[in-house]
Amino acid sequence: MSALQRFFIRVLPSAWTRSMEAESRQWIARCECGHGQSVWDMGGIRWKARGTPGCWMRCPACGKTGWRAIRKET
Ligand SMILES: [Zn+2]
Repeated sequence: MSALQRFFIRVLPSAWTRSMEAESRQWIARCECGHGQSVWDMGGIRWKARGTPGCWMRCPACGKTGWRAIRKET
């Protein structure tokens, strides 16, 4: 868990942090090889957000670095 995530867990009511974690886990950055990693697993938070953001990341499965679109997968 990242420092950012620990900070939110400390300051927000637990019902909010559960919702925040659940939602952050639904936002997946998926590589062209098919490997997907959630925003939460990358140490980030995405909550009450819309749109299709992206992030620069290295895929742990195939090792390729590039821009990945982050999409909400439920
Ligand atoms: Zn990959």
